[in-house]
Amino acid sequence: MNDYQKILLAVELSSEDDPVILRAQQMAKQYGSALSIIHVLDNIPMPDTAYGTEIPLYDGLNDELLEAKKARLNDIGLGLDLDASRIRMVWGLPRQEIIRLAEETSTDLIIVGSHGRHGLALLLGSTASGVLHHSPCDVLAVRLNRQPPLSDLVLDAHK
Ligand code: AMP
Repeated sequence: MNDYQKILLAVELSSEDDPVILRAQQMAKQYGSALSIIHVLDNIPMPDTAYGTEIPLYDGLNDELLEAKKARLNDIGLGLDLDASRIRMVWGLPRQEIIRLAEETSTDLIIVGSHGRHGLALLLGSTASGVLHHSPCDVLAVRLNRQPPLSDLVLDAHK
């Protein structure tokens, strides 16, 4: 198996990031990889710029939500011992920007979380499946919110 020299961790800045961060930390340690993280802003109104615009992490911009997201991303980066150049925040479509950065930095492995959605959500596409289908490199999808199989739930209901 190839060693992964460059790993890109994509975080959505939610309470569900923890297992994904942990796995990225383990993988980076195991392979001695350079780890970077990215968060893509897709729910804050963009200023009049093109998608994919990089957001400086220390620019004094004072939008409350933006500042909170920057602080959270920086905290994650510090927790992983990353220097500022390895912590990226950009505006855009998450799948597109994750892949763009992976290509630009010759990333070997992208790590994302996966909710394993079904039905309509699957048809519409999640970030994890979008990344998986368009990635130039390996992708590790860390399973989130593992639900018990339906049969277990039905059995539980009859207890
Ligand atoms: P989703 O399928 O969109 O619910 O997200 C699954 C995974 O995609 C998350 O655990 C993250 O790894 C990644 N992801 C989702 N949204 C973003 C985002 N805005 N920026 C960076 N990564 C994201």
